[in-house]
Amino acid sequence: MSEQKVAFPDGRGLFYGGKWHQPIEGKTVEVSNPATGEVICSIGEATAADVRPAVAAAEEGFRVWRDVKPMERAKILRELAAIVRANARELALIDATDGGNPINEMMGDAMGCAMIYEYCAGLVTEMKGVSVPQGPDAVSFSVREPYGVVACIAPFNHPLGFTVARAAAPLATGNTVVIKSPEQAPLSALRGAELFEGLLPPGVFNVLSGGRDFGAALVADPGVAMIALTGSVPTGRAIMRSAADSLKRVLLELGGKNAFIVFPDSDPDKVAQAMVSGMNYTWSGQSCGSISRAFLHADIHDAVLERIPALVAKYKPGIPTDPATTMGSLIDGNALARVKSYIASAHEEGARLVYGGEQPKDPALANGFFMLPTIFADVTMDMRIAREEIFGPVQSVLKWSDEEEMLRQVNQLEYGLTCAVWTRDIAKAHRIVSRVEAGYCWINDVSRHALGSPFGGYKQSGIGREECLEGLISFTQEKNVFINLNN
Ligand code: NAD
Repeated sequence: MSEQKVAFPDGRGLFYGGKWHQPIEGKTVEVSNPATGEVICSIGEATAADVRPAVAAAEEGFRVWRDVKPMERAKILRELAAIVRANARELALIDATDGGNPINEMMGDAMGCAMIYEYCAGLVTEMKGVSVPQGPDAVSFSVREPYGVVACIAPFNHPLGFTVARAAAPLATGNTVVIKSPEQAPLSALRGAELFEGLLPPGVFNVLSGGRDFGAALVADPGVAMIALTGSVPTGRAIMRSAADSLKRVLLELGGKNAFIVFPDSDPDKVAQAMVSGMNYTWSGQSCGSISRAFLHADIHDAVLERIPALVAKYKPGIPTDPATTMGSLIDGNALARVKSYIASAHEEGARLVYGGEQPKDPALANGFFMLPTIFADVTMDMRIAREEIFGPVQSVLKWSDEEEMLRQVNQLEYGLTCAVWTRDIAKAHRIVSRVEAGYCWINDVSRHALGSPFGGYKQSGIGREECLEGLISFTQEKNVFINLNN
């Protein structure tokens, strides 16, 4: 099948207070297609000057939205879900064009976005407080209230999924949002603003495209009550430092360097398949949950590795809007340069290349930021590729035989996002999982998110949980009310 035509949003400015605005400083920025290098369009770029009016609009929206009855909010959220679903293909095409990920995967993101809105709509009545017995003359109870304006700061790897979809929980709980879309892939959030226009009161859902300086100014604004970041560990640290000045609440979903732990009683065919699919080569490994460190037991190591080349060969880098494409491009030239430098360091430090390590030769992809799936064996924990988040299609294979030492290596990094354990001995798997310092663990599976199950990091991979009831609750604060009935 051939490439498909993409309709880009008409809204190219900043959306706040229910209207489109031009950036106050009049700046524009070009948006490019990372698979072709072509400029797609120009959009308005927010700067620090745009923060105050946008946050003021969100504060005004909050005064209305916080009083909308929960079931009415739920009804509106279901309407938002329906409009996302009805426009899923178009949203997916936009993400495939400025984000570089294959259209089929981006369809999954769009449908997942609709599902999150429905899920959050179903939980509006669960923002419950407690009632503490006081005898007949008094009542003491608590209620959960929204914080106010939530700044949602998004990374580029699932543009719709980390902008429009991530707004569902704060909106369901009565907050308003100012979304800072990822600078590399801002278009689906703008289209989301267009689609939602008119369904929500003005100022409830606001979207601004801008760079890091704009993001820093946004999170520092005194009108922002809470910051929800999905991004890297250094950005998490910067945001927490900024939030400390006014003790803003933070929800941080950060990076990972996740372990895939394999015991020798596993089926090598299934392990090899999981090792490849869990690395998310489809979107060039650019996923926080990618299992970029594969710890294979010495007794199964060779059997798994010999199966890998045939499996990764199925990931064919291609133009992301073509439905036949099974692997997209990296997001930009910086990402490609970073990935290349890690590959060079792996060679220098003595790792053994099993597959890839170079850009595809297809001339049709020459202007894109593509890198083949790349797997290194004989990796040790002193190598950079084993210790640092590459956020690209580079997987390290580490051979182990001593369980204690393997666990020490698994846990020795500052990251603690996901982990996958493979063994048919479920008691052993459970024991290993209890020793792993990571927030989301799979046993005999990889990658899968189960809506309703808390997703988030241990250690420096994050603070707080999403995709679950606790996630919604974290966008509320508890107020206790004590009533003396003897007045
Ligand atoms: P990034 O941290 O560079 O940028 C994320 C967002 O933060 C961008 O919109 C950026 O403009 C903004 N930003 C940067 N500095 C800022 C500051 N000082 N103040 C306010 N905003 C600021 O991350 P990225 O390169 O876009 O995305 C990749 C990273 O995101 C990886 O580390 C990946 O693991 C992580 N990630 C985590 C999850 C998760 O759920 N845990 C999901 C996806 C991505």
